[in-house]
Amino acid sequence: SDMWVMTASVAVSEAPQMLVWLPLVLGALLLIACGAGATVGALWWRQRRRSEALTRSLDAATQVLDSSRRASVAGLVTRPEFDLALDEAVLRCDARRHTASVLFLDIDGFGAVNDTHGHGIGDRVLREIVERVHATTPTKTSAARLGGDEVLVLVECGLEDAKLLAAALQAVLADPIDAGAGLRIHVTVSIGVAVYPQHGARARIESYAKMAMRAVKDAGGNAWSVFDPQMAIDQREHAMIVADLRHAIARKQFELFYQPKVDSHSLQITAAEALLRWHRPQHGVVSPAVFIPLAERYGLIGDLGNWVIEEACRQAGVWRKAGLRMRVAINLSAFQMRQDDLVQRLEKALKTNKLQPERFTVEITESLALENTQATQRTFEGLRRAGLHVAIDDFGAGQTSIAYLRQLPASELKMDMSLVRDLAHSADARAIAEAVIKLAHALDRRVVAEGVETPDQRDLLVEMGCDELQGFLFAKPMSATAIGLWAMDEGPDNHPDFRPSLFQETQAAL
Ligand code: C2E
Ligand code: CA
Ligand code: CA
Repeated sequence: SDMWVMTASVAVSEAPQMLVWLPLVLGALLLIACGAGATVGALWWRQRRRSEALTRSLDAATQVLDSSRRASVAGLVTRPEFDLALDEAVLRCDARRHTASVLFLDIDGFGAVNDTHGHGIGDRVLREIVERVHATTPTKTSAARLGGDEVLVLVECGLEDAKLLAAALQAVLADPIDAGAGLRIHVTVSIGVAVYPQHGARARIESYAKMAMRAVKDAGGNAWSVFDPQMAIDQREHAMIVADLRHAIARKQFELFYQPKVDSHSLQITAAEALLRWHRPQHGVVSPAVFIPLAERYGLIGDLGNWVIEEACRQAGVWRKAGLRMRVAINLSAFQMRQDDLVQRLEKALKTNKLQPERFTVEITESLALENTQATQRTFEGLRRAGLHVAIDDFGAGQTSIAYLRQLPASELKMDMSLVRDLAHSADARAIAEAVIKLAHALDRRVVAEGVETPDQRDLLVEMGCDELQGFLFAKPMSATAIGLWAMDEGPDNHPDFRPSLFQETQAAL
C-alpha cells in the first residue's frame, strides 16, 4: 500500500514567537540531519510547547510509541488507520475540550519531477519528504501518505500550533533533496490547515484542510493557509462554474477578443493577441483569469485550448483573405505544452487556413518556459521546427530571470505588466527594463511591453528602445469585427495616437 502513517506526542501551549522559534527549528533540523533522529525534533517541539494537562495524560502513551516509532521506517499504515486515529482524536477533543488540527500537504509541480527525472527518482523524493514530515512533527502525530504526492498530518493541537507546524514543514521541505548521483531536487509544498472543532464537524475537517491547500495552490503554491468558510463558498461557486464550463464549447459561449500590439515607432499594428472570453448565461462575461485555472484543474483545458487554436486560425485566415497583414497570437496553457500532438494540431490548423507559421505567434509564460521538463522541451523543439513564432509571456513577473534569457527558445519577450506599471516611480524597475531590452537585443529578440496605460510609460519604453507596445493606452481587447474595422480605419477614432496600420498591405497566399 502507498499509505504511510506515523504515530508519536501532543503539542499544545503558549503563543508562539516566530523569531525565537525559527532558529530553534533550524537548529533542531540540523541535528536531525546529523543523525540525531526524529526524537530531537519531537523533544524540541515538546519542550517549546508543553501543556501540562495534556502532556501528562499522553506522556505515558508517547513513551511506548516513541520506541516503536523509529523501528518501522515512517511507520507505514493504511488510510483506515488514519481515519481511526482521527476518530479517536475527535473523541478526546470532545471529552477534554481541546482541539485537533489536520494539515493537508501537496507537493507543488511533482508531476514535473517525475517527467524530468523518472518515477524512480520521484519515489525517492516522496520517501524523503515523508521522512522529513515524520521528523518534524511532534510525537503524538498521525500522518498518512495518500496516493500520489499528498500527505495528511493529524496533530492534537490548536490553530496557533498548527500554523507553526505548517511553517516548520514548509521550511524543512524547502531544503534540496539529495536524490543520489549528485542530483539535488528542489520541491515546494502547499499546505492547508483545518482545526476540529472550530472549523467544522469530523466529517468535514479533511476536506476543509484540502480546500485550504487548494487555495494556496491557486495563489501559486509554496505557502500554507488556514481554512476559511469563504473557501467553502468559493468551492461551491467553482463547482457551478465548472459544471457550466463543461457545456460551454458545445453551446458556443466562447469568443476570442483581440488586443493589438503596436510598433513603438510607427504605432502601426503588428499583431493581434487572442484573449478568450466566456459569455456565461445569466452571469455575463467571465474573465479567463477566473475560468482558465479551473479549466486547467478539472481537465477541460484540452478542448478549450483546441477550440482557441481552431478559432484563431480561422479568424487569421479571414483577415489574410481580406488583405490584412499582421500576426495573430494565442496563449498556450501548461497542459497544452505537455500534449504530444500540440504542434501537429497547430500545423494542421495553419495549413487549413493557408497561414504561414512564422506569422502566427504562440505565447508561453516564462515560468512554463523555464520548467524544462522533457515534455515541454519536446514541444518547444517541435514549435521551432514548425517555424512558429514563439513569445515568452509575463517576462520578469517572477524573480529576475535575465540570466535565463539566453536559454529561452523564443524570438519575442513580453515584458510583464508589473514591470511596466512600476516604470514611472521605480528606478529599479527602469534599470531592469533597460537591462532586459539591451540583453534581448544583443540576443536578437524583440521586446514587447504589455499593460502600457499611460503616455509616460509609453515615452519611457520608446526611449529605452522597446520594440512594440500593448495596453489600454492603445486599445483594450475587442471583438474580431471591431479590430478589423478599426484596422481598416473604418471604426471610431478611439485614440489620437493610433495611425493607419500595416493592414492595407496584402500578403500572398501560401
Ligand atoms: P495575458 O496573456 O498576460 O494577457 C494580458 C491580460 O492583461 C489580458 O487580460 C488583457 O486584457 C489585460 N490587459 C491588456 N492591456 C492591459 C492594460 O493596459 N492594463 C491592464 N490592467 N490590463 C491589461 P485577460 O484577457 O483577462 O486575460 C488574462 C489571462 O488569461 C491572460 O494573461 C492569459 O494568461 C489568460 N488567457 C486569456 N486567453 C487565453 C487563452 O485562450 N488560452 C490560455 N491558455 N490562456 C488565456
Ligand atoms: Ca499573453
Ligand atoms: Ca502577459
